[in-house]
Parts: sequence; structure tokens; C-alpha cells
Amino acid sequence: MTKKEFKAESKRLLEMMINSIYTQREIFLRELISNASDAIDKIYYKALSDDQLVFNKEDYYIKVTADKERRTLTITDTGIGMTQEELENNLGTIAKSGSLAFKNENEAKDGHNIIGQFGVGFYSAFMVADEITVITKPLGSDEAYKWESKGVDGYTIEPCEKDSVGTEIILTIKENTEDDSYDEYLEEYRLRAIIKKYSDFIRYPIKMDVKGQ
Ligand code: ADP
Ligand code: MG
Repeated sequence: MTKKEFKAESKRLLEMMINSIYTQREIFLRELISNASDAIDKIYYKALSDDQLVFNKEDYYIKVTADKERRTLTITDTGIGMTQEELENNLGTIAKSGSLAFKNENEAKDGHNIIGQFGVGFYSAFMVADEITVITKPLGSDEAYKWESKGVDGYTIEPCEKDSVGTEIILTIKENTEDDSYDEYLEEYRLRAIIKKYSDFIRYPIKMDVKGQ
């Protein structure tokens, strides 16, 4: 399995994220939930024009699972998923909106402006995670893929097993340091508060499951 490099500008943004002193790290969850919601929307809109596809509201949800022992925070959705190519294109490059903002800022002063003004999406998860695994199965396919990255070094993609269509984003939450606390992102009350603050308007149910103490 070969390790692939991020595109140059993605790498710069990623570096900023990883070293971010941004006080509102919590927004990473808003970004991941909004991506999950977008992915479900895609199935919803597809179903409107596709007779073969029925959208049963009960089947579509977002789930946030914390496992304190394993230090993982997982965001699961029953959305449209990603093909191998989409994984490569969407997560190997910063999203268009983000990348445009990044270019406009050009000599970006610090992470504050970029994150505050534009919201950089998926990569913001690197503010709280030192490893991210994405397991995804796209609608209409039997194949599932796993994308993995520990940050600027690059990422790998390999085939894997997944029963249902959708995406699972597994964050390995950073260890606390003298200056920074990350444990809070594994605490149910904290996760609930963040979701209430930023994702209250999401039109799909957001379920929660916290394991360990
Ligand atoms: P944006 O949401 O602004 O496009 P992001 O960085 O948040 O930028 O996400 C990049 C892209 O990765 C999305 O546009 C989407 O194509 C893909 N993506 C991210 N998360 C998911 C997900 N949970 N399900 C399906 N696709 C996803
Ligand atoms: Mg997004």
C-alpha cells in the first residue's frame, strides 16, 4: 500500500490545523456533522428524481459515538458515501470553498482568520485528532474503502469491509498536554453542548452513544 501526499495547498492548511492555537476547536464537530447531513441530502435529492430509490426518513441519521478507552470519536452517517475516486479527490485536496478562501487570503496571517471566516471543513478535525480513519461505502456499490491519515505525512486508501451504505469518520483524539485539554471531546455533556450550539438546525436525527468513563 503506497502512501500518497496531500496537494501542496492542502498540506499548508493541514499544518495550520494541526498546530492551531485556535480557541474554538470545537467547530470540527459542526464541520463533520454538516458533511454527514450533506451526504444524506444527496440521497434525498437523488430519490426525488429516481423511481428506483425510495427515501425512508427513518433510515437516515447521524450518530456520534465516543469511546473513552480507545480515545475515539466516531461520526457515522447513512449518507451517499464516497467511491475510491471521490475519497481521493475530496479528502486529498481541500474543498473548493476552503481552497478559494485560502487563495484569497494568500499570505494568511494565522489560523484564526481562515477558520473563523470560512470554515475549512473536514481538515478541521486535525485540530483535535492525531489520526483520522474514514470508512465509506457509496450508494450503488458493493465495494467499501478505508482512507487513513496521521496528518501532513499523507494518506492511504485501501479496500475494506462495510455492510451498509454511508460513511464513518473515526477520530483518534489527541492526548491532553500541559496547555491543552482534548479529553472534553469524549465527554457526553460536552458533545451535546457543541451539537446544540452549532448543529441544532440539522434536519436529520443526531444520535449519541458514549462508552467508558
Ligand atoms: P465542503 O463540505 O465545503 O465541500 P469539506 O472539507 O467539509 O468541504 O468536505 C470535502 C468533501 O468531502 C465534501 O464536499 C464531500 O464531497 C466529501 N465528504 C466529506 N465528508 C463526507 C461524508 N460524511 N459523506 C460523503 N462525502 C463526504
Ligand atoms: Mg463540509
